[in-house]
Amino acid sequence: MTDVPYREWLDRAARLDPHTGHHIDGAFRDGGATAPVVSPRDGAVIARVASAGSAEVDAAVAAARRAFDTGPWPRLAPAERKAALLRWADLVERDRETLALLVSLEMGKPVGEAHGIELRAVIGCLRWYAEAADKQPDEAPRTAQGSLALVTREPAGVVAAVVPWNFPLTMAAWKIAPALAAGCTVVLKPAEESPLSALHLAALAAEAGLPPGAFNVVNGPGEVAGRALGEHPGVDVLAFTGSTEVGRHFLRYAAASNLKRVWLELGGKSPNIILPDAPDLDAAADTAAWGIFFNAGEMCTAPSRLLVHRSVASRVVDRVVARAESLRVGDPLDPATEMGPLVSAAHHARVLAHIDAARASGARLRTGGPDTGTADGPYLSPTVFDQVTPDMPIAREEVFGPVLAVLEFDDLDEAITLANGTDYGLAAAVWTSDLSTAHRASRALRAGTVWVNCYEEGDMSVPFGGVKQSGHGRDKSLHALDKYTDLKTTWIEL
Ligand code: NAD
Repeated sequence: MTDVPYREWLDRAARLDPHTGHHIDGAFRDGGATAPVVSPRDGAVIARVASAGSAEVDAAVAAARRAFDTGPWPRLAPAERKAALLRWADLVERDRETLALLVSLEMGKPVGEAHGIELRAVIGCLRWYAEAADKQPDEAPRTAQGSLALVTREPAGVVAAVVPWNFPLTMAAWKIAPALAAGCTVVLKPAEESPLSALHLAALAAEAGLPPGAFNVVNGPGEVAGRALGEHPGVDVLAFTGSTEVGRHFLRYAAASNLKRVWLELGGKSPNIILPDAPDLDAAADTAAWGIFFNAGEMCTAPSRLLVHRSVASRVVDRVVARAESLRVGDPLDPATEMGPLVSAAHHARVLAHIDAARASGARLRTGGPDTGTADGPYLSPTVFDQVTPDMPIAREEVFGPVLAVLEFDDLDEAITLANGTDYGLAAAVWTSDLSTAHRASRALRAGTVWVNCYEEGDMSVPFGGVKQSGHGRDKSLHALDKYTDLKTTWIEL
């Protein structure tokens, strides 16, 4: 944790002088139009960044292409790539407070969480894949006498990573680190809302000695810069984290261009099932509240559907409501703040529309909602609806905000049917003291991750991703390296 006081964060924010160009071929470069970066904490324009058209995207892909086809990065010994990634991680650690401030200002999460959670994840991710870089053996399967087969993992080429704003650096690191460790070169396109932290990361990559073109950043609107990367013939792999709707676009872009492989990490509507034999019902309720309100609910894995057994529903929901009402919503630079604003006024309006639709469909508003938000900016109070039925939009659609839908059930089979009854399959949780119930539920739940008696737990060593319309790629763990490598067979007649 950082112990920088509120006043000092405000001073640092006032003195901020962020990078604003694209980072291409090892250097910052302006050009093209510019776009404002608006902080949701007070609506202030904190910078204007270069905004790419197709010329800048072409330049970034060309730099990554050169770096891959003829540059040193893919040709370095894996131990040398490891050393460069470790140097980069050390520089991120050195600038951790600056990066946390940039993240907090651009997307609104409390600065302490940016520092303690987001930056810890980024530094850990860079170091983990750095260490993995020189520890992956190739294979020599047994073949007939007189021949030798080698199965080697080759870097897959130029990787374009298009990421969202909710964990702007973590989502980027989960793609950049394994791709670079595997020997690929990378073009990152951050979300329009959160380019500044990504540009600082790029400056540190250059300082760490990554060769020009190995890691590039282009800013710009999704429909222009994201689309240009999706359609670009010079991109071999497109790694995307974002909404299911935009994920569909990337499959179309690939189909219409060079059939690049597309990895999708998409949205969710994750169920959190509380059974009456949960080891500690109060802890289950507290975790349910923490899970949906953490990061203002702007979490792909947020437990946005609380499925609670009817016999314990009122006890659990009363406690969740009490937790919601005790949360401190406010300025993300104030270390006392527990929940900052939503990312933007446009997103705030989308979340309010979900709240209106929930009310109109007959769900009961227990706390929060549009009338109780704090003053200026896209702030919203933690919101809880109960008496939700599975046909209501609030039970099916991703809100991506601090809005909980509570549904009740009578037995485990009904809970599983409810849990699996959406288009999504990112994560799920079950709270029970019975080992068999936990295993039966885990097998039956269609989700990439199932938590038992906890939520949001994880480690770099375990894969993360979804099924159904939550996508199919896996970030984190050694499995993520598969996305950025091709298997090559070399057959030798002896
Ligand atoms: P988004 O899909 O609107 O945008 C994500 C990225 O795609 C941004 O960089 C954006 O500029 C770009 N983009 C937007 N439209 C595009 C287009 N037409 N063509 C090409 N690129 C385009 O998502 P968001 O609002 O930034 O983030 C919220 C979404 O991300 C939620 O659905 C959330 O669940 C999801 N998410 C998923 C994960 C996961 O790991 N599964 C993690 C975090 C967020």
